[in-house]
Amino acid sequence: MKFTHDTLPQRVVFASGAAQGAVAAEIERLGAKRVMVIAAPEEASLADAVSENLPVAVRHDEVVMHVPVRVAGRAREAAVQAAADALLCVGGGSTTGLAKAVAMTGSPVAGLPIVAVPTTYAGSEATNVWGLTEGEAKTTGVDNAVLPRSIVYDAALTLTLPVGMSVASGLNAVAHCVDSMWAPRTDPINRALAGEGISGLAAGLPAVVADPAGIEGREQTLYGAYLAAVAFASAGSGMHHKICHVLGGMFNLPHAQTHAVVLPHVLAFNGPSAPEAERRIARAFGAPTATAGLAGLRRGVGAPKALKDYGMPEEGIAKAVAPIMAAIPASNPAPVTERNITALLRAAWEGDE
Ligand code: NAD
Repeated sequence: MKFTHDTLPQRVVFASGAAQGAVAAEIERLGAKRVMVIAAPEEASLADAVSENLPVAVRHDEVVMHVPVRVAGRAREAAVQAAADALLCVGGGSTTGLAKAVAMTGSPVAGLPIVAVPTTYAGSEATNVWGLTEGEAKTTGVDNAVLPRSIVYDAALTLTLPVGMSVASGLNAVAHCVDSMWAPRTDPINRALAGEGISGLAAGLPAVVADPAGIEGREQTLYGAYLAAVAFASAGSGMHHKICHVLGGMFNLPHAQTHAVVLPHVLAFNGPSAPEAERRIARAFGAPTATAGLAGLRRGVGAPKALKDYGMPEEGIAKAVAPIMAAIPASNPAPVTERNITALLRAAWEGDE
């Protein structure tokens, strides 16, 4: 066996119902005295509760999905004005993404330590990947300066996440796991993490749907989402992420729902050419095949089905084929052609599984 695996340095604290104390301890460890708290207006009350006893220098609430460059600029300026010495982000991937844009190399406050308190299952908190958008173009990059120093997972903070968004976000995490099975830098460690991630998510998400106010399903889902993100950060973007990245940028589609819709089509596409991945995914779901496992989970939670429901125009199918083909890694298990990518996109657009 020969492989090299990078493990990202990060503290991970699971503290159900106890985020406030756990965050205070992480901020103290950093020796921070002037904290910039980033949270969208929708998550303001969660952020209030989490930051109650902290030395807060400034609150910033201008959060926009995919982090437009101008929004990032204003957040950096706010950090400079407040002489912030640490960032605390409370929210979903968009909020974590803004904290990363403030801390990234090239920012006037590059390297500010981040403590991340996620309230969705997107997983950005466990990766060193940043994203910024300018017009229609989304740029992403890898920079260790954006990796949060600590994550505090408190499942109680996700209880307010509506069921539909919980399902889409949880399936975004399942997509991290599935794509990690064949992404360009995949290795046995990533595949083990991804398999355990699928099992956590497959147990957690139906429990969230059955009892949205129950803590255990939320905990399982957060645990699975963390493992999913660690696997994805190490394995890199495979076919699934490349497709979603192109579609999201071109048609301004919602992130989690796009992932949820596209995933079964990519699994059906690659599965037959990736028998080891197929077996591992099936085992993680406890199902006879990977596709049956995913289909069962999707049915049970009422998964999003069609890209046309999220604003993608039909003529977008033809427009997206060439950039998607250019982006899919050469190592993808199944060969990619204009014809089979068009068929995949049409099926995802129509919701034909
Ligand atoms: P999001 O952060 O935009 O949140 C979606 C919606 O849920 C928002 O309206 C938000 O206000 C609401 N919300 C969040 N938490 C809530 C809670 N606990 N209760 C009630 N409402 C809540 O969406 P997301 O899917 O979490 O993140 C998407 C973004 O994250 C995209 O820009 C994507 O590119 C990025 N992302 C980055 C990485 C990475 O590694 N860099 C990984 C995954 C996602």
